Amino acid sequence: MSDVPEPSDKKEEETHTPDPEEEESDDNSEEGEGGASGEAEMDFLRNLFSRTLGLSPGEKVLDELTLEGMARYIQSGNCKNIICMVGAGISTSAGIPDFRSPGTGLYANLQKYNLPYPEAIFQIEYFKKHPEPFFALARELYPGQFKPTVCHYFIRMLKDKGLLRRCYSQNIDTLERVAGLQGDDLIEAHGTFYTSHCVSFFCRKEYNMDWMKEKIFSDEIPKCDKCSSLVKPDIVFFGENLPARFFTSMKMDFPRCDLLIIMGTSLQVQPFASLVSRVPKSAPRLLINMEKTGQSDALMGMLGFGGGMDFDSDKAYRDVAYLSTCDEGCLAFADLLGWKDELEELVKREHDLIDSKDKQDKAKPANQNAGAAEESAGAETGKSDKAE
Ligand SMILES: [Zn+2]
Repeated sequence: MSDVPEPSDKKEEETHTPDPEEEESDDNSEEGEGGASGEAEMDFLRNLFSRTLGLSPGEKVLDELTLEGMARYIQSGNCKNIICMVGAGISTSAGIPDFRSPGTGLYANLQKYNLPYPEAIFQIEYFKKHPEPFFALARELYPGQFKPTVCHYFIRMLKDKGLLRRCYSQNIDTLERVAGLQGDDLIEAHGTFYTSHCVSFFCRKEYNMDWMKEKIFSDEIPKCDKCSSLVKPDIVFFGENLPARFFTSMKMDFPRCDLLIIMGTSLQVQPFASLVSRVPKSAPRLLINMEKTGQSDALMGMLGFGGGMDFDSDKAYRDVAYLSTCDEGCLAFADLLGWKDELEELVKREHDLIDSKDKQDKAKPANQNAGAAEESAGAETGKSDKAE
């Protein structure tokens, strides 16, 4: 007999309980940050045990469950690994509609596209057959016409001060990048407009944002110049997997988090929402949002999703809800940290920069068009000299 691979003897499933925390124990070791992966693994195991066995009740590190208490915690110097989790609410003040909020949101404006049902516009199978509605919508919502908000620049300040471990965003508007976060600072959990790919499994050619932008605004359905398949921005559609980096980074980051800041998200989309329960029990969690969210309810408890937010019970010891817009909350927080002037200067400087670049860009198409006209005129007359 030749080397027939033996049937898998990993019968893991027989001992698996439906514990949502458990899937992370399977492949935790692939991502190494230099030589730190062993240490990270220990951190992770310690944390996993203390959470699943309920060993540590959670140390109280805040002197007060308020924004002031949070600020003093950061100033104490004991907080060096801040994770931000952000959602649509941090971009609404930039003029980007929150497509999940009923009435005001995007779904309410979709009738004109004749969709069988509103979610179809973000469904991969529907998109492959009818890409037009998505691209029409993309034209309306195209990122780049918008400026990052005070809240985006607050996250940038955390990075500049060496306090940001990573920002996990549900947004696809790329404003975190515009505000100065780089690829490594950022997990775009639902993908991004920053890059696009040919949808053909055999091709997968990558296209950049400028290329996609040009197609979208020229009313053309973007087609791959290599194989003529559709090209789709790298945002995660329904029916597609989240980016692999989301899962690998999550396993590295959350066990080490010493402050979780959640902003502008209703924490209703999994698996993003369940991340709040992955930080150590002692790690304070600050919610800046228009309403309280993320509290575990009876149903979630029954399903095994423990660790929801607890702002108000007599057991509350680490969660603070600051109810306001994300910009107001960040300004108030920056003020308490003594960073307010710096934040306002950063916002002004960056916005001025974007405005002046915008002006240049607006001047450019006119020149380019003139250039194109000259070229075609040149082609007609058989000349191609540049006009001086
Ligand atoms: Zn292709």
